[in-house]
Amino acid sequence: MRILIVEDERKVATLISSGLEEQGWQVEICHRGDDGLALANEQNFDAIVLDIMLPGRDGLSLLRQLRRQRNATPVILLTARGDVDERVEGLELGADDYMAKPFSVVELVARLRAIRRRQSGDGLTTLSLANLSLNLHTRRVRRDDVEIELTPREFALLETFLNSPDRVLSRTYLCQRVWGFQFDPETNVVDVAVQRLRRKIDHNFTPRLLQTVRGVGYALSVE
Ligand code: CA
Repeated sequence: MRILIVEDERKVATLISSGLEEQGWQVEICHRGDDGLALANEQNFDAIVLDIMLPGRDGLSLLRQLRRQRNATPVILLTARGDVDERVEGLELGADDYMAKPFSVVELVARLRAIRRRQSGDGLTTLSLANLSLNLHTRRVRRDDVEIELTPREFALLETFLNSPDRVLSRTYLCQRVWGFQFDPETNVVDVAVQRLRRKIDHNFTPRLLQTVRGVGYALSVE
């Protein structure tokens, strides 16, 4: 893997970089957002680890510009702990994942590997959380050993949640990913679909997996 790290805190950048190099990956570091954007456009990276607060150009603006230029390089954002707005905005701008600071480099490596698997499509026949599993090939969904029937839309919704376990996904994000259109706050299409999915995957099963995060959205996680 070739990874670009855009992080102005030199100690953090070096720490990440040595962790990734231990994996045998190639790492490029830069400390400014504008330099990061230039590098991301000049060279091919398998992923970008992107801090948000940066001199030159902040991380969210870099990400927005990257996606505007149709550059789809996977991005993991480094966010301030507890800043939900920042994370939601980052995911909506097209970030693939985020890590809240301070984080463990081991976890970052695992997230990067997961992105790699998603990109290449291997090792990815089954997505699962706790006793819930979804097979992308057979399109079977099971809770324990009980098979659950989902509509194609519910399946896509569950797949989206299983791709980001423990992440709060906003209605806007879900709407774009699953329905492919801009979220209209006047409609409750996302809420209705989530309730329906919850009835199918959570009713009569434990633990409860589909959580409502008030004012933000929904998350698939073990409570
Ligand atoms: Ca910073």
